[in-house]
Amino acid sequence: MSRLADRFSRSMTYLRLSVTDRCDMRCLYCMPEEGEPHEIRREVLTFEEIDRLVRIMCRLGITHIRVTGGEPLVRRDLPVLVGMLSKIDGRPELSLTTNASRLAPIAEELKTAGLDRINISIDSLDPQKFHRITRGGKLSDVLAGIDRALAAGLAPLKLNTVVMRGINDDELPDLVRFAMARRVTHRFLEVMPLGSVGLDNRDGFMPAAEIRTIIETRYPLEPLPFQEGSTARDFRIAGTDAQIGIISPVSERFCSSCNRLRLTARGRLQLCLAYEDGADLKKPLREGWSDDAIADLILRTVYEKPAGNHFAEDPEPVYQIAMSGIGG
Ligand code: SAM
Ligand code: SF4
Repeated sequence: MSRLADRFSRSMTYLRLSVTDRCDMRCLYCMPEEGEPHEIRREVLTFEEIDRLVRIMCRLGITHIRVTGGEPLVRRDLPVLVGMLSKIDGRPELSLTTNASRLAPIAEELKTAGLDRINISIDSLDPQKFHRITRGGKLSDVLAGIDRALAAGLAPLKLNTVVMRGINDDELPDLVRFAMARRVTHRFLEVMPLGSVGLDNRDGFMPAAEIRTIIETRYPLEPLPFQEGSTARDFRIAGTDAQIGIISPVSERFCSSCNRLRLTARGRLQLCLAYEDGADLKKPLREGWSDDAIADLILRTVYEKPAGNHFAEDPEPVYQIAMSGIGG
């Protein structure tokens, strides 16, 4: 039973752990072309600091840690951190969200270090379009990363696509076919109005209902029961055992069953994607607070978690909050 409860009686069991703000891509909906201001190394938590905070949080009730970024594989020696986290008491489940540009050479090493599962972002199967959306990404590297992750047994592997009207909405059935051929689940995400982007969020936004309609032009979908704590609406492709998910933080949010917390690369405990509310944990850590004092600060902070996001009500994007900083 998690002690990390908020005033709406939601229990937090899932931590999204960002290990860097940096990225080797510049996706239209996430980062400005010139990148985010560069992090100063001393501002970023060390592996030892991350390990200590995660241990405290696991003691309080976190059971699943998703390592993310920025691009987590840009952080040097990531398998070392994965190995440290895999030794935490209670053995939390460890997963990774990555753009896979650097995955192929270390997929095996990550698995051996203790990584359980992996989510890979892929927004197009057309190399030129992929390059345009990511402002420089190479599709062939990502495809190699997917193959090596599957070969290494990082399962279940999930693919994620952010759907942008007029940019990649024509590829949705092809992306489903791509995932089915590899026997993996594909998830389609609504664009969230966050970050300083090269995409007009309002024009690029496509609601979940329309995403479903486009997929159903080729693959009829049967809704599956909603899983508590999930952010996706899951479907089975009729007549097969293949599944897809549609993630709708804007048109149909699942905030009332949210079970997640975020820890940024610079040591901020963040309560919700859509707000800056939270607490700095790096300063107490570096000032020598005890584990119990830090745990107490975390418990008091979590209690104040906002009820839900405001994406559907607010017409203007929240430019000051970038996904690359808080790990999606
Ligand atoms: N770099 C890694 C990657 O791209 O998978 C991990 C970090 S990225 C911030 C995590 C997820 O957030 C990715 O699946 C990405 O597509 C998604 N994302 C980023 N900005 C978004 C936005 N404005 N709306 C919806 N999803 C977004
Ligand atoms: Fe980088 Fe991931 Fe953001 Fe794309 S979505 S710019 S890969 S952090």
